[in-house]
Amino acid sequence: AGRIGVLALQGDVSEHLEAFRLALGDRGEVSAFRTASEIPDFDGIALPGGESTTINRLIQNAGMQRPLQEYDGGIFATCAGMVLLATEVEDDSLFEPLGIMDMTVKRNAFGRQRESFEADIDCVGLADPFHAVFIRAPVATRVGYKTEVLAKLPQGYIAIRHGLHMAFSFHPELSGDLRLHQLFLENLGL
Ligand code: GLN
Repeated sequence: AGRIGVLALQGDVSEHLEAFRLALGDRGEVSAFRTASEIPDFDGIALPGGESTTINRLIQNAGMQRPLQEYDGGIFATCAGMVLLATEVEDDSLFEPLGIMDMTVKRNAFGRQRESFEADIDCVGLADPFHAVFIRAPVATRVGYKTEVLAKLPQGYIAIRHGLHMAFSFHPELSGDLRLHQLFLENLGL
């Protein structure tokens, strides 16, 4: 059976736990984790939405930076989690993300007027549009050549896959639609 771990330092942890619990069914278990030593136990890890500067600082304090960079499972990252995975954050040279996915991200890319909104988006791998919830969302403005763009808006790339990793500007854990979780789990062979 598969094991999914949700990084539980800050952010919408319980929503990720619930979405993966439903997506996994009897194929596996999901649990919250707070320490570096637990990381290698998981087939997949979720990096939740929240406040990326806070989560990044807590990751560093917990000594999780290297273990996450060396992790060989899949990472499912939403919103702030997507910022953490990037190699570079636009307009913030002090922000040192994990550099796990080759992309440049722009935080709060939709401006103040559209801080939070919902939109039906077309996504590679899904037969029908996905109802996406955006909350002060980032976008990727550049992706590396090994990185596959699954969805985009005029502001930038909003769903990205690199190997087993998937990153989303929006919050698939809030839509009640588990197709992106299922794609992630299928890629892991679960
Ligand atoms: N704007 C937030 C950040 O960059 C992310 C918001 C979210 O995760 N919903 O940290």
